[in-house]
Amino acid sequence: MLLGTDVNQRPDVEEGSDELKLIPLWSVLVSLLVFSAIQVLSFWGHQGQPHHGNPVLHVIGSYSWGAALASYVLLVGYISRDVKRRNMRPGLWMLIVMVMPGGIGAVVYFLLRQPVMTRCPSCRTEVSSSFHFCPQCQFQMSPVCGQCFRGVHITDVYCVQCGHDLTSDEMPARLRSYSD
Ligand SMILES: [Zn+2]
Ligand SMILES: [Zn+2]
Repeated sequence: MLLGTDVNQRPDVEEGSDELKLIPLWSVLVSLLVFSAIQVLSFWGHQGQPHHGNPVLHVIGSYSWGAALASYVLLVGYISRDVKRRNMRPGLWMLIVMVMPGGIGAVVYFLLRQPVMTRCPSCRTEVSSSFHFCPQCQFQMSPVCGQCFRGVHITDVYCVQCGHDLTSDEMPARLRSYSD
């Protein structure tokens, strides 16, 4: 009954690889633009004053400045998407991240951000990913094995740690809704 379920639907498998996909295309383009603009500007600036400082140091300096600013643009792009899936206020947070100097806004954001919001697979209620049960329909969001109490996947029939038959755990709501 459950074995035909698509493995890709496992909620915790897709997490890590999706983080990079959160970075929108515009911020990748802007960061490339910022990086090349800094190289060009610094090259022109250097042309004006040929015997001023070590040229190698100058190139390294503009390179690292460009890289730092470009990665900050990527970070802002990531936050602009991340803020939405956490049900936080996008306008307010984008302002904080942009206005606070030297990346302090981004640090504050990562310290204060809320858990990712997902939807209950059973009733589509918006729930925090830290919930163990759906507050509306009691769907088990993060099921555990009834024998060894380690976390199991929502579609698993047997515990991967101890081989316990998960369907014998009084048939929780998650299995009912998947087998329907
Ligand atoms: Zn629900
Ligand atoms: Zn187990």
